[in-house]
Amino acid sequence: MLNRQKSLTRFRDEEFDLAVIGAGINGAAVARDAAMRGLSVALIDRGDFACATSSRSSKLIHGGFRYLPQGQFKLVYGALRERERLRHLTAPHLVHPIQFLFPVYRGRGFNRLTMAMGLTLYDLFAGMPFKEWHSTLNAAEVRETEPALSRDGLTGGAMYFDAWADDARVTFENVLDADLHGAAVANYASVENFSMTDGQIASASLRDLLGGVSFELRATKFLNATGPWVDQIRRMDDPLSKPCVRLTKGVHLVFARTVLPVRESIVLGDERGRIVFVMPHDRYVLVGTTDTDYPGDPASVRTEADDIEYLLAVLAESLPGIKLKNADVASSFAGLRALVRGEKGAAAPSAVPREEVILESSSGLITVAGGKFTTHREIAQKLVDLVMKRL
Ligand SMILES: Cc1cc2nc3c(=O)[nH]c(=O)nc-3n(C[C@H](O)[C@H](O)[C@H](O)COP(=O)(O)OP(=O)(O)OC[C@H]3O[C@@H](n4cnc5c(N)ncnc54)[C@H](O)[C@@H]3O)c2cc1C
Repeated sequence: MLNRQKSLTRFRDEEFDLAVIGAGINGAAVARDAAMRGLSVALIDRGDFACATSSRSSKLIHGGFRYLPQGQFKLVYGALRERERLRHLTAPHLVHPIQFLFPVYRGRGFNRLTMAMGLTLYDLFAGMPFKEWHSTLNAAEVRETEPALSRDGLTGGAMYFDAWADDARVTFENVLDADLHGAAVANYASVENFSMTDGQIASASLRDLLGGVSFELRATKFLNATGPWVDQIRRMDDPLSKPCVRLTKGVHLVFARTVLPVRESIVLGDERGRIVFVMPHDRYVLVGTTDTDYPGDPASVRTEADDIEYLLAVLAESLPGIKLKNADVASSFAGLRALVRGEKGAAAPSAVPREEVILESSSGLITVAGGKFTTHREIAQKLVDLVMKRL
């Protein structure tokens, strides 16, 4: 079982095959995969496990229907296959089905035909049994299913299945499994610098943030899985390295179900057709997300007034009978997407591809950036294949 003190002693005494920096979903999944393949692994996080992006997602284990019109077929196909694997094979106790109502409005986003075509592709990619396939609805059926929805320009809609999970718990179970397979694991331990031998990273200076002491962590390979902080770690390796990620902020609001009494999980759109999810879970309803460039310090990301204003406006327009005020927001959380940085004059945040990028520096630091929570197992497999090759 997890024993932080024992892990810290191992960090001091052993030389590991692989040291993974960051215990969000990507780092945790890599540590698990590598430990299962018999490598000696160290996994560390500066905060608690899953304290950053991996506890602030929309909690969907999904293909991402909205990526289909962007032509990101490979991403959607891979993510749907991973969704089904998690649902049925690896984590059926953690990954649950969620059924969405997706209303269609005249002159906005999908029409009934493109929606039906897209969802057929979505269900086909997932390889779902026919009984779980989407169904299309006419306007009267949509109104009956969710009376709170705006009727202005409503032409119909669809019901389709996706999946959701408690993101922090999935991450933590990966950490636990890495530990069970022999990895040395510690939270509240921060990598502060690297030391080189013959141009290769030989050790990292590690600070135990609870004990206040620093020491050297030795490993043959180092993996940078620090999400919004990947560029900070890359600069420790090479001060001249160019940023590889673009950070965008995503905010979710939480309402009591009594003030937002929707019956279904719904896919709403803003006036430009950008998707916002409304997802009732038990006594609360999760609403999100925003997607705006974030130039600040990743540690300071928080919900701002304009994030709340944007999400309340989408709700007011789409669910006109439900009047929500700022004071109805029970809670909120903000996370940062580490999107792959494109050329100058890049696309709007929502249009940036969500596929991961794997980089390797001349001193041997492997960095993973971008990616979806849903595809963590596949990302980890690719990374550990690379580590095995290098070892
Ligand atoms: C708003 C939002 C909604 C999303 N919704 C979904 C969704 O519904 N479905 C989906 O599939 N994906 C979703 N994603 C994407 C998904 O959440 C991310 O791809 C995933 O969580 C990234 O995990 P990570 O491990 O790379 O980063 P993180 O979870 O951010 O982990 C990085 C870790 O590195 C640690 N760290 C940083 N610096 C150091 C250091 N010096 N030393 C030690 N540790 C350090 C941090 O403490 C942190 O825990 C969403 C993302 C956002 C932002």
